[in-house]
Amino acid sequence: MIGSLGSLMGATTTTTEAARPLVDSFGRVHRDLRISVTDRCNFRCTYCMPVEGMTWLPREEVLTFEEVERIARLLVERHGVNSIRLTGGEPTVRAHLPVLVGKLAALPVDLSLTTNGATLAAVAPDLAAAGLRRVNVSLDSLRPERFEELTRRDELSNVLAGIEAAVAAGLSPVKVNVVVLREVNDDEIVDLARYGRDRGVTIRFIEFMPLDGGGAWRPDQVVTQAEILGRIEAAFPLEPLARGHAPAERFRYLDGAGEVGVIPSVTRPFCDQCDRIRLTADGQLRSCLFSLDDHDLRTVVRSGGSDDDLSDAIEACVGSKWAGHAINQVQFVRPRRSMSQIGG
Ligand code: SAM
Ligand code: SF4
Repeated sequence: MIGSLGSLMGATTTTTEAARPLVDSFGRVHRDLRISVTDRCNFRCTYCMPVEGMTWLPREEVLTFEEVERIARLLVERHGVNSIRLTGGEPTVRAHLPVLVGKLAALPVDLSLTTNGATLAAVAPDLAAAGLRRVNVSLDSLRPERFEELTRRDELSNVLAGIEAAVAAGLSPVKVNVVVLREVNDDEIVDLARYGRDRGVTIRFIEFMPLDGGGAWRPDQVVTQAEILGRIEAAFPLEPLARGHAPAERFRYLDGAGEVGVIPSVTRPFCDQCDRIRLTADGQLRSCLFSLDDHDLRTVVRSGGSDDDLSDAIEACVGSKWAGHAINQVQFVRPRRSMSQIGG
């Protein structure tokens, strides 16, 4: 036994010793798979996509559910993956998503989803019934006008209803992701923390990363973990919790009103603990959000490749993983694809 996720996730998932564990050249064992099910989205968040000009993948290049299931099953059964998160683009715009959830829920994994929440009120019951365990919803502002400016959609009330629906459907825990942008929404840090405390959901503040489709990222737009924590702590005293394998640094409210997290991807990256690999909607495996290379699993699958062929391609990807990204260094090169095209 590698271990049990039960105590961590409130789930019953266990994993057995992998025949071919995904160990990279720095000794990191990879057990966490992000699967992007589409590059498309019903929002146009300013920090993620331009209003126009995105080039969508042709439908025939997107993996079918059966292809996704085959790759995921191999990664779980042979390579020891025990956690799968569905993402995008916006995963809920992929037709019949609960069908894919059902296929993946049959595997012994902790299965979760990241969504903008706009249609979650409608789909949460079907996703939960299909076997989804938990959900992360993105919510960057509680002010309707600002929400619309940020997402370019008038959907705040639907997202808030989606969060409630996810809780009601038994998806647990529900976490809320907030990308913090200087002079855009950083004055809402305390309001969003309070919302999380009141609603019983864990807020996770994310440092803005250079993965925006428009290429507008600047270092001075990043609100650092230290600043974020300083503002929360002034209102609600905190103490740190163990970080574990998640990229979020976790903190407990001293008054017992739950916890809050920060993902300091820019100022305190968790690269040395990273156990993630990412499968894009068009079947490319990536060992890092910031990788400059894709490893083409779709061609292996569609050219009649065996499981051994697939495993070889997967291991080549993991074997090429670098020690960490170089956002803060002069040699940093932005990846060709943006966050929504890779799968955040
Ligand atoms: N559409 C879904 C959503 O928004 O939750 C899933 C995909 S989205 C790419 C996944 C997460 O990445 C979201 O929480 C989003 O806010 C975050 N994100 C997108 N672009 C980002 C950036 N440049 N820096 C930091 N986080 C970003
Ligand atoms: Fe769409 Fe998510 Fe990107 Fe916003 S962050 S544009 S919701 S993929």
